Amino acid sequence: MAKCNVAIIGGGLLGTCISYWLSSLYDIEVVVIEKEPEVAMHTSSRNTGVVHSPFYLNPEKKGKLAKAAFVSHDLWKRFAEKKGLAWKTVGTLEIALDDTQHKILEKYLKWGIQNGISEKDLELLDRNEVAKKEPNVSCHSAVFCKTDVAVDYGKLTQELKNESQKNGTKFLLNHKVESIENKNEPVINFENKTQLSCDFVINCAGGYSLDIAKKFGVAMQYSSLHFRGEYWIAQKEYTDLVKTNIYSVPNYPDFPFLDPHWILRADGRSEVGPNAVPVPSPETYSGYIGNVETFISKLIDVVTGNARNLLLNADFMNLVAKEWLSSISKVVMIERVQKFIPKVKPEYFLERGTAGIRTPIITPEGKFLPDVVEIEGPNSYHILNYNSPGATGAPAYSAYVVKSLQEKGLLDYTTHTKESIWNFEKIT
Ligand SMILES: Cc1cc2nc3c(=O)[nH]c(=O)nc-3n(C[C@H](O)[C@H](O)[C@H](O)COP(=O)(O)OP(=O)(O)OC[C@H]3O[C@@H](n4cnc5c(N)ncnc54)[C@H](O)[C@@H]3O)c2cc1C
Repeated sequence: MAKCNVAIIGGGLLGTCISYWLSSLYDIEVVVIEKEPEVAMHTSSRNTGVVHSPFYLNPEKKGKLAKAAFVSHDLWKRFAEKKGLAWKTVGTLEIALDDTQHKILEKYLKWGIQNGISEKDLELLDRNEVAKKEPNVSCHSAVFCKTDVAVDYGKLTQELKNESQKNGTKFLLNHKVESIENKNEPVINFENKTQLSCDFVINCAGGYSLDIAKKFGVAMQYSSLHFRGEYWIAQKEYTDLVKTNIYSVPNYPDFPFLDPHWILRADGRSEVGPNAVPVPSPETYSGYIGNVETFISKLIDVVTGNARNLLLNADFMNLVAKEWLSSISKVVMIERVQKFIPKVKPEYFLERGTAGIRTPIITPEGKFLPDVVEIEGPNSYHILNYNSPGATGAPAYSAYVVKSLQEKGLLDYTTHTKESIWNFEKIT
């Protein structure tokens, strides 16, 4: 049976970043296990591609994601420049449509500063100032964040995988974890009937991380839901209708989704999206039912599990109805954006973009967990609820995970620091 020191389940951005840190700090055998033929084939490539400045995140509720995003901004910049990958500073206008939403913008300005953003990078603009900057945007007011950037997170993950491989990490692709035996040390059984034993497992399986955690007997109190974010691509002649990302203040701040926005991609496209349509699995990228068995099992889970309370929440059910409609009808989706870009028309969008799926964790009280959580299990560490802006925060958050494991005495190996693109001590 093959053996390694640390096995990381999940070759998305998070698993790849953690492998990079481990392989640059220790002379140990690190293996990243990924069920797909390549890294970043799921959420890490299927996102909006924004390096977010965390002005819109409440530091008291989403402190870890906010801090990681703030610290990682410059780390990604340096990495993208070094690798010659796209780094397109586009800025974001977060718009308010009325006075109530304007008060939320004022709160965002305070949160932004608390989260570390420099005052000079955040500006509160009135309606006329916004119109001067973006003549096709109509709103009450906006926060202009100058530092938001468009990137391709799939390509960044690929490059990071190359760096991690140079340090000795092995990427075990096309290996799906099926079950775990955890007696003296974890033994991972793969779908292809091979096995891997290791000293320690780090679970970074994205939308499936809760399922993997439960295989270790932890996080049994939680359940999860899956929401597909869909996009529509603007035809070439309308790409420049608006030259800044436009986000709007969310109508339901207790739910972890933003309304569809106008976004600029690193490759020059403009898109509208994402919405948040409930789907039965982390990989139901089209249709609404997918595999019938998975659908029925998710339905039973929703009706009998933590999400049951959400079904009684009128705001949640309203939101779900609206999201379904905007999935079925392009016109409804575009109407949501017409509220702040009146010139935009459904016929400007002929092609769907690449959908991605968020998997928020639901507490036993039927609430969405606001921040990422780490749970220690037997010979294992589990990262759950690693949602947006997780791609932005991955370099710093992964360093924080490795530091936490060191402090808990869970990485009892001799350090062997190699030359690194980023400075671990400085970041942590
Ligand atoms: C619609 C949408 C828009 C977003 N926009 C942004 C944005 O603009 N900016 C931002 O910062 N963040 C954004 N995010 C969030 C960000 O993309 C995620 O936080 C991040 O990509 C999560 O990375 P991950 O490595 O945890 O998960 P993933 O990328 O999903 O990686 C998990 C990996 O685990 C593998 N895996 C799962 N189960 C198994 C198994 N049993 N065996 C082997 N392998 C397994 C999967 O194949 C997958 O490759 C967005 C997310 C979505 C859904």
